[in-house]
Amino acid sequence: MDFIAAAAPYGLVLSPHQHTQFHHYLALLLEWNERFNLTAIREPEQIWRRHFLDSLSCALVTGDLNGRRLIDVGTGAGFPGLPLKIAFPGLKLTLVESTTKKKQFLQAVVNALVLEDVTILAERAETVGQQAEYREQYDIAAARAVADLPVLLEYLLPLCRVGGLVVAQKGESAAAELTRATHALQLLGGEFREMKEVWLPEGTRPHYLIAIQKTQPTPMIYPRRPGQPVRRPL
Ligand code: SAM
Repeated sequence: MDFIAAAAPYGLVLSPHQHTQFHHYLALLLEWNERFNLTAIREPEQIWRRHFLDSLSCALVTGDLNGRRLIDVGTGAGFPGLPLKIAFPGLKLTLVESTTKKKQFLQAVVNALVLEDVTILAERAETVGQQAEYREQYDIAAARAVADLPVLLEYLLPLCRVGGLVVAQKGESAAAELTRATHALQLLGGEFREMKEVWLPEGTRPHYLIAIQKTQPTPMIYPRRPGQPVRRPL
């Protein structure tokens, strides 16, 4: 796959330097994955497509991220946050990942690629969302493959500023999850903006980007304490 050409439909023009940074990220991911289980996708071609390119597809709803603040919750090995940071070097990025081992990997990538303006928090989303330093501070709060939408909105909407955007990367269940999330949207101060279908090269099924506008401040009782959003979804 020609990665630079594949990223072009997302409005991205990647330089040779950025392409090299992706190669470096791939090498670190393969190396660390031998010791820690960071991702079940181990085939380089699949990593380019299903991790890097899929992460970059967020640009279809966010547009240019340079100069903006984005928080990626449950980032795992850095998706979608780190590919977006490579593509938009002026992005101010916060990565949230509760697993300490994964934080160490993320820090290693940030150091090796000399990425600036990246904060990595080894904490739970529910804790971060109650800290004044992070609460309602972000232009964009994003996540992929972390939780069902009603749960995910309780993680993401408190972190997003009023007027900002929540972006959830979803699979085939996107429409059904959105239907189930109506009550959560009302309680947390969000309004549905759009759902965009995304096709990756050689993909057999579409993915979806759900974009939610934050229209009202989120009441201080949300997010509830760690574990509550999953146990008792809104
Ligand atoms: N977003 C990455 C991706 O798409 O490859 C990782 C997805 S992985 C299935 C979900 C990640 O979310 C795990 O690494 C897990 O530790 C993290 N996670 C789940 N719930 C979380 C929470 N409440 N706060 C912080 N991280 C969480």
